[in-house]
Amino acid sequence: MAVKQLGRCFLCGNSISEAKQLLKGKFGYVCDSCIREAYAILNLEEDTYQDVQSATPSQIKEHLDQYVIGQDDAKITLAVAVYNHYKRIGQNKNTNVEIQKSNILMIGSTGSGKTYLVQSLAKFLGVPFAIADATTLTQAGYVGDDVENILLKLLENADFDVKLAEQGIIYIDEIDKISRKGENISITRDVSGEGVQQALLKILEGTVARVPVSGGRKHPQGECINIDTSDILFICGGAFDGLEKIVHKEAGNRSIGFQADAGSERAEDARMLDSADIQQNDLVKYGLMPELIGRLPIITTLQPLSVDDLIRILTEPKNALVKQYQELLAMDQVDLEFEEGALKRIAEISIEKSTGARGLRSVIEKAMKNIMYMIPDMEGRKRVIITADVIDGRKDAVICVCRKGIA
Ligand code: ADP
Repeated sequence: MAVKQLGRCFLCGNSISEAKQLLKGKFGYVCDSCIREAYAILNLEEDTYQDVQSATPSQIKEHLDQYVIGQDDAKITLAVAVYNHYKRIGQNKNTNVEIQKSNILMIGSTGSGKTYLVQSLAKFLGVPFAIADATTLTQAGYVGDDVENILLKLLENADFDVKLAEQGIIYIDEIDKISRKGENISITRDVSGEGVQQALLKILEGTVARVPVSGGRKHPQGECINIDTSDILFICGGAFDGLEKIVHKEAGNRSIGFQADAGSERAEDARMLDSADIQQNDLVKYGLMPELIGRLPIITTLQPLSVDDLIRILTEPKNALVKQYQELLAMDQVDLEFEEGALKRIAEISIEKSTGARGLRSVIEKAMKNIMYMIPDMEGRKRVIITADVIDGRKDAVICVCRKGIA
């Protein structure tokens, strides 16, 4: 064949006459320098993988603590599950004991930190990560996103490195919204919900999925890539509104697992659900298929965030909102200060709106709009104090223009 006759390495094109070792392939030879390079790449991949494996559950939690406030049960559950997951992947395949994959179900109200936790986790581990919304998924043949599209997202985030994608994490949000709820839900919705559950079941339990890849720089013609989902960790999340009533009823009206402390700062009906009290049967009653629940053996709950939690979220994490606004306004020579009462009001309003921590930014943004409009036109160093009245829209923020030399 031509390549061989030319005596050049099939990969780098250099002459092979000097090569000490050669790899013979179907279309020609590969020189020893290319063999070494390929070996180094493989070793490098192994090192990266080792890193993921060597983070212990407590180290994982410690990292999550820097970003996510509270939710210790979810953090510990995730840390242990992820640690075991990557140990399972690294397991010696010759052993008789096959460790099964442990996908995770996270239950917690909107804005309690489910997505944020998984995002922070994937970032720490450095593994490819994709988020999907179960409500946009449809069963094959219907208009909407096929379940395979989630895998495509993961593949894109792994820069089309199939091996890497096959060890990634996928978060499927709003899993509770594809449940078959009672008789009073329309038949069409029931059917489509179940169809999506069936489709999800397949990729969750491990299958080789054919993912259509079209367009893009690397795949301009469009083709299908096979992805083995056996080692992908799936984390599903949902608010599961009303689940506490089912669990409560099933527990024979004994108030186990709930801390309904009247007069607490938490949302009125925020009876906290403990993962230990949730039985598979409760989730079946809620409308998830038993087979799907079987594929989500690890369950954890996130608690509704209290006023105190929200104040901590506003001020403590590395990228806390208050720090972000202070940084932003410092560029306009402003020292921004939030009074305790203001922080409390921001938290209370978010709770009233049932938006959890998700609503904090919009409350601050509303209160800060005028200030951020006026400040850039004002000369000199300024001090801006945000009070509870400013948050409630009853008063304007106090802006002190500092005289030269006086901070
Ligand atoms: P969920 O997925 O539970 O609906 P998210 O994780 O999307 O909620 O939360 C929305 C935003 O609120 C996050 O991006 C994060 O900034 C903030 N947040 C939510 N919960 C927490 C928490 N426990 N600690 C710190 N920030 C949080």
